[in-house]
Amino acid sequence: MENIFKDLEELGFKNISDADLFQEKEQPKKKVISKEKEAQLKVQTYIYQRKVDCPVCKHSFHSSTVRSGRVRFQGTELDLRPRYVGFDPLPYDVTVCNYCGYAAINKYFKNITEKKKRAVIENITRNYIGHKYNEILTYEESVERYKLVLLNSAVGGDSNGIKAYICLKISWLYRGWQESLQALEQKDDALLQKLRTYEIVFVEKAFEGFKLAYATEKFPVMGIDEMTMEYIIAELARRLGDSKISKQWLGRVIGHSDVPNRLRDKVYDVKELIREQEKKEKKSQQD
Ligand SMILES: [Zn+2]
Repeated sequence: MENIFKDLEELGFKNISDADLFQEKEQPKKKVISKEKEAQLKVQTYIYQRKVDCPVCKHSFHSSTVRSGRVRFQGTELDLRPRYVGFDPLPYDVTVCNYCGYAAINKYFKNITEKKKRAVIENITRNYIGHKYNEILTYEESVERYKLVLLNSAVGGDSNGIKAYICLKISWLYRGWQESLQALEQKDDALLQKLRTYEIVFVEKAFEGFKLAYATEKFPVMGIDEMTMEYIIAELARRLGDSKISKQWLGRVIGHSDVPNRLRDKVYDVKELIREQEKKEKKSQQD
């Protein structure tokens, strides 16, 4: 058939070509793909494939890693979550071995004790079903990977401070995930609510773990010094809605004679937020 519309010539429809029949429908689809591709290409410029040798099972594999020279640091939020311009490198901060299930924060991946190695083989590798991740990680995959890091840490007998630090990072992932959803035109409110709840669950775990670490561990813990940890505990308490405990910990920070200005400013900001919150609570009691 030369032209499917040829039969309509008698009805007055002359010279209609069928060449463009489906073009209009295809166009928007093409656009969506290219937008996704565009976003992927953007992320691709921030990462590269790093060759990793697993210290547990000796397999070699590639792991997506952030080009540190590419990201632009913007500052930290009140719980010290770092922010970068246009890209969140946090998902790429852990390494997972797809062969044996050993997983750790990049910086500590190679340094595993013999004792932890045995514990990982016994408790992780035995049960682990490998999962191959794409080069570009979603927040959902990142949460899964970080939780595997936390599980490795727990079975490997890591200190409370290490486990609390991983929990803090998981709470940051949940926040980053919420932000990425909020940027969408159509928001999934049910999912957002769920992620907010999960974020708080991990804030709570980080709070508990850091308090235990503070009481029993030697500083620095995961690079965090004593007064910075006091400050983090204070801010986590505020996030959990306990302003009384938060103020107690802020008092400890200020009690040091050598608080750097950077931290002093943050203490001031947290105090301000607590004051606002208390005002609101008083007002709602009066109403
Ligand atoms: Zn391995």
